[in-house]
Amino acid sequence: MWYPAPVPRWQALHDNWKQLIMADRGPTALLWVGSEGVGKTPIALAFIQARLCEEGKGLYACGQCYACRTMEKLQTPQLFLIPPLPTNPSCPLEDGVEWLRRALIANPFLTLAYWEEEVIRSLQDKSAGTKREKKNARRKGEYPISVEVVRQVQDWLKLKPTAQEWRVVLFWHAEQLTRQAANALLKIVEEPPAHTMFMFLATHREALPATLRSRCQTWYFPPLSPTELEQLSGTKLSDEEIILAEGSYAKLRALREESQQKYLRALRTWIEALHPQTPWRSEVEEAIEILSQHPYLSDWLIMGVRLARKIGTNPSFNALIADRLLHIADAVDANISPTGLLWEVTLELRQSRGLGEFRWEWLHS
Ligand SMILES: [Zn+2]
Repeated sequence: MWYPAPVPRWQALHDNWKQLIMADRGPTALLWVGSEGVGKTPIALAFIQARLCEEGKGLYACGQCYACRTMEKLQTPQLFLIPPLPTNPSCPLEDGVEWLRRALIANPFLTLAYWEEEVIRSLQDKSAGTKREKKNARRKGEYPISVEVVRQVQDWLKLKPTAQEWRVVLFWHAEQLTRQAANALLKIVEEPPAHTMFMFLATHREALPATLRSRCQTWYFPPLSPTELEQLSGTKLSDEEIILAEGSYAKLRALREESQQKYLRALRTWIEALHPQTPWRSEVEEAIEILSQHPYLSDWLIMGVRLARKIGTNPSFNALIADRLLHIADAVDANISPTGLLWEVTLELRQSRGLGEFRWEWLHS
């Protein structure tokens, strides 16, 4: 099943869900808005499964019928799953759909960043594209949903529907729709063919043009509560995890990856060391070294802002630390080498209330 039903989130959505699933003539365009990792995708898939279920009598999918079983594998011909894809190298939609299927089955809480990595890996496996093209595919924010893809959706919808069955077009990360693509959708979303439903999952409502938004019923997905995160993960959360996950199960999973543990320890050690009254420890040097190698350092520094607020007891000093973390994050995004920046801020902040136990020799030893 696509979403573990008994979490409280489900209860909150229950009334909306019930209305929608029971109404044969309900809204045919839905816009689901919420941060990454709060459950939009698995709940959307669970909803589609319930809608396509051949038993079709209850609120939820039976999980047994043919439609339910094909939906478990995302192989149902009634679902058109639309991923954002790189433009350079261009990647055939069929390949992208297949990769997204595979990735969502492995992890329904997939994030855009992980999806981009998945696409790069898959392109490499296919050995498609030149080295330069692969490098281009790595650039963030270069994964649109293009107008060409919308044309393929229109062609798909022209195919004769099988009997009276529902067809669903699911735009995963709909905020990636280009303006042109969104405009091309307006007419068909306004007057869809019978038994056709459009679902737009988006992290930002404003990323979609108002003309498209106005044609959709919008549901908001707030961050998950610590209890919901615990129920989804089946484990207790540490205080640190509660702060850093920010109600996102995807973030929690990422934090718990074995490969991230050294960064998490380093971030904590380093932020502690920014306080002048903390005794200087040799681990700080190593922590800076580790942090400077993080592939998504700027995201981590932004996360560090929340951690910083919990570590220190002086709010104005914490605000200063937060300011410096954001400053480094911007500089790292602008491709400035992080090691020097991390050291510079460390020295500046430790000296801001006297040298404490810090000694200059550390730098040169
Ligand atoms: Zn079923």
